[in-house]
Amino acid sequence: MLELSDVTIRYGQHLAVDRVSATVAPGETVVILGANGAGKTSLLKAISGIITAQPGSAIRFQDCDVTGTPAHEITGAGIALVPEGRGLFGGMTVRDNLRLGANPARARALEKERLELVHDLFPRLAERQGQIVRTMSGGEQQMVAIARALMSNPDLLLLDEPSLGLAPIVVQELFRALARIRETGVGLLIVEQNVRLSLGIADRGYLMEAGRLTGEGSADDLLTDDAVQNAFLGTV
Ligand code: ATP
Repeated sequence: MLELSDVTIRYGQHLAVDRVSATVAPGETVVILGANGAGKTSLLKAISGIITAQPGSAIRFQDCDVTGTPAHEITGAGIALVPEGRGLFGGMTVRDNLRLGANPARARALEKERLELVHDLFPRLAERQGQIVRTMSGGEQQMVAIARALMSNPDLLLLDEPSLGLAPIVVQELFRALARIRETGVGLLIVEQNVRLSLGIADRGYLMEAGRLTGEGSADDLLTDDAVQNAFLGTV
């Protein structure tokens, strides 16, 4: 469904992502693991059309070349990003944030059904429809961010460190919701530092170091891989 070939991203002279090739099959859940600064956020931004990859990079989605396609068209094509920092409209209500998520043409007619789906996934949002987002807890805001992305009726959801800054119990709740989203058939590409929980719901994973992919494997293999254990799981 998503195919990255030789994706390279530069900020001036700085090479942030160096010829990354990776795939996500329809309905697959894939995790990218890597330290801070490895280039994971840049990669998600390039897929979402927020930044432009270097010439020679190719991003294909559902058999279309979407390299360099602007962000709103990428959402319209069926890719939704839940950015690091969430990107919500803090002064607006939950309801209005979710409505804005349903803006792409592919989602407008389905707004009611999508709302039922996200309320089923996150019952707390159904109870808090009129709450101003900035008055919510971090975990609740993350739920709004994921729910808003789902309102666009995506085939692929990109999640940038969804667990960042959240209490362990909230993170567990969030990953239970992600596992349910996965069951609906939506593909997930997740950048995460929480290795165990993210690999726990994933089919496959990639390791990213200093802009390059340095390893890949099934989620089960990565969970027992020495390099992953040493780098991320602190079980040396
Ligand atoms: P983190 O988990 O800290 O967000 P990351 O793996 O997502 O890390 P990126 O945010 O993609 O990494 O950053 C990759 C590299 O590119 C880093 O060295 C970072 O400093 C640099 N970088 C990112 N954004 C910019 C920018 N707008 N201008 C210049 N350099 C940038």
